[in-house]
Amino acid sequence: MRDPKSPQELSPQTLAIRGAQLQTEEMSHSEALFMTSSFCYESAEQAAARFERTEEGNIYSRFINPTVGVFEKRVALLEGAERGVAFASGMAAITALMMSLLQAGDHVILSRSIFGTTTRLFSSYLAKFGIEFTQVDIDRVDQWQAALQGNTKMLFLESPSNPLTQIADIAALAELAHGIDARLVVDNTFCSPVFQQPLRLGADIVMHSATKYIDGQGRALGGILVGNEADMEEVHMYLRTSGASLSPFNAWVFIKGLDTLALRMQAHDAATLELAHWLREQPGIAKVHYIGLEDHPQYRLAQRQQSGFGAVMAFAVEDAKGQASKQAAWDFINATQWLTITSNLGDSKTTLTHPGSTSHGKLTPEARAEAGIAENLIRISVGLEAVADIKAELTRGLAALGHQVD
Ligand SMILES: *Cc1c(COP(=O)(O)O)cnc(C)c1O
Repeated sequence: MRDPKSPQELSPQTLAIRGAQLQTEEMSHSEALFMTSSFCYESAEQAAARFERTEEGNIYSRFINPTVGVFEKRVALLEGAERGVAFASGMAAITALMMSLLQAGDHVILSRSIFGTTTRLFSSYLAKFGIEFTQVDIDRVDQWQAALQGNTKMLFLESPSNPLTQIADIAALAELAHGIDARLVVDNTFCSPVFQQPLRLGADIVMHSATKYIDGQGRALGGILVGNEADMEEVHMYLRTSGASLSPFNAWVFIKGLDTLALRMQAHDAATLELAHWLREQPGIAKVHYIGLEDHPQYRLAQRQQSGFGAVMAFAVEDAKGQASKQAAWDFINATQWLTITSNLGDSKTTLTHPGSTSHGKLTPEARAEAGIAENLIRISVGLEAVADIKAELTRGLAALGHQVD
């Protein structure tokens, strides 16, 4: 097999295409898809050896499959991790992480601005098993510090945050966590390993919803955790027991997605930066929230810990009479012709959403205001269409609010 001998010397762009290749005796050039539930043995002796784990090898796709294995190894290489374990979805990965590494009596500190379903996992389910949590502002190291308790076992965050693109000082929080023997876990979905590698900044475990940029074309659900061998062994044993396994077919789709990940991320990023600069010059745009703008308070930190800013941003609109209302945001969204109205993100298709009545709709108005989710805020996940065409769509939105754009 012609595999890179020292993968750590290769750049991520190459590793995403060449890392952990799987060659069978058929010598197919593209990675093979092993769409099978189980594997067979040469003899009863071999079957016994596999089950005793005295012989490495395939057994059953709930916990081991060669196609899934390529995906796990490749993402681990990209993140600089010892090992990866893949799951049926991002949420399955997060659930497995908590179930395998936490126990009753443990305390976790969560960034307030994480994926809402992750918060619900803690408030509705883990709480029933005696796992407590505290929520803090992502960008306030002092709040993280003040929330530390004797039984704190994990700090969990997503950076940049959705939709306001606030970021965490990952190195500072890793130091805090390690001071009390807790783990720092980063949901790195928004940056993908192309723009941010949290383990290199001191984090212990990284999680991805592969459903987003790793697939990048809105086709398949999946998730992955990467970290050290000991932690991933625990996580893998939980996967073997609970069975939220990634389909080999989806793993194969993700492997194909990884081939173009670096190129796609660069294109997403460049388009978003251009749109951010353009948007804030337009009438009717009250504010643009994007970590890639020089006047974002955390711009310098982002430059230090990320190599790109990402493709999610939020902007606040007002109509020609100065009304900064939910109706203005809805009118703007409804006036576009083909941008997709959906809360999904990380797709080649550009999507628009009104956080105040969707992702953050269940919060009280006060809680929403505290989270910085204004009624007139729109989130855009910038896709790979021509920037000029996206601008024309956003111009239709502004025109519907009575603004003239030249
Ligand atoms: C979508 C998403 C998840 C959940 O992933 P699924 O694959 O939908 O289960 C977790 N974190 C972030 C940041 C996400 O965007």
